[in-house]
Amino acid sequence: MTCDFLALAQPGVQKLSPYVPGKPVDELARELGLDPAGIVKLASNENPLGPSPKALQAIAAEFSELTRYPDGNGFALKSLLAERCGVQVSQVTLGNGSNDILELVARAYLAPGLNAVFSEHAFAVYPIATQAVGAAAKVVPAKEYGHDLEAMLAAIDAQTRVVFIANPNNPTGTWFGPQTLANFLARVPEQVLVVLDEAYIEYAEGEELPDGLDYLAAHANLLVSRTFSKAYGLAALRVGYGISSAQIADVLNRVRQPFNVNSLALAAACAAFDDADYLAESRRVNAAGMAQLEAGFRQLGLSWIASKANFIAVDLGQPGLPIYQALLGEGVIVRPVTNYGMPNYLRVSIGLPEENARFLAALGKVLAA
Ligand SMILES: *Cc1c(COP(=O)(O)O)cnc(C)c1O
Repeated sequence: MTCDFLALAQPGVQKLSPYVPGKPVDELARELGLDPAGIVKLASNENPLGPSPKALQAIAAEFSELTRYPDGNGFALKSLLAERCGVQVSQVTLGNGSNDILELVARAYLAPGLNAVFSEHAFAVYPIATQAVGAAAKVVPAKEYGHDLEAMLAAIDAQTRVVFIANPNNPTGTWFGPQTLANFLARVPEQVLVVLDEAYIEYAEGEELPDGLDYLAAHANLLVSRTFSKAYGLAALRVGYGISSAQIADVLNRVRQPFNVNSLALAAACAAFDDADYLAESRRVNAAGMAQLEAGFRQLGLSWIASKANFIAVDLGQPGLPIYQALLGEGVIVRPVTNYGMPNYLRVSIGLPEENARFLAALGKVLAA
């Protein structure tokens, strides 16, 4: 070998660690020689209900058009989102998952010499998107596992172009309220783009969490990102969206792949967004599952971080990786979060009642071993 192509990669990329996804069911089934149907996966915050039947119908109706490129402007979905979010179509950006939105922001606004501010224990895509474009990451220590927005404000400097905030946050499930967000937005310098990542906002009921859309009119530097991967149950299709000022949306549109959202995803997202019953059921199952897991943890003498999302981080009081491995042996996949600086925790997605019960039984067995 004559050339070192790692050394030739731009410095930010050289230092990147690839995103580590939850272990796929089929992979564990192959490794253990198990029936995939017997494996419980609570590792990627997916909707345990399976997709909305309306979304499946919409996908089937698109099959005959698969030879065509999708609508590169996503007219139908953007129109629907604009109407429901109370914004103009020109303020909507569609993404190949909301990950795509985060990357578009990084590509458009970050570069070597500039930085992005985000919290310790925040979503792993923030450092990846930031470093991939050669920008610096300013990681602000968390406060009781949640975002310390005051400290994040203080970390903003003349080179800061983006602040990434998740509310609720993944993998901690922590959240902040409307007043905290209002205070923050009022003091962020106007040239700093605030990306408010609301991937789990549909699970938050009541007034405890702010609705990011309420702050758009007063803050031209705010982008709210949301996804169809979680409460809308379409993770495999990869579709998410950003709502921002029309000017920011125009900039993101310049760096976007022409057909970044495929036609099955566009059709399914429209149908899922209109399926209010499915969303209500998703929330109901989630709230019940959260209570079930909390009760189970209490019985096992474990503590956890209170969560407003569709997952919960449980404190094992001992390294999580061996417990994670032992749970795999029981056919249960959860998520170790050592790479998030939480070595004693496991993140568990809320499943169906029987899945939660399987997990709790396996955890009890593994901890007693
Ligand atoms: C799951 C998640 C996303 C969204 O992922 P996509 O599937 O790309 O839409 C974004 N942010 C956070 C914090 C998440 O946990």
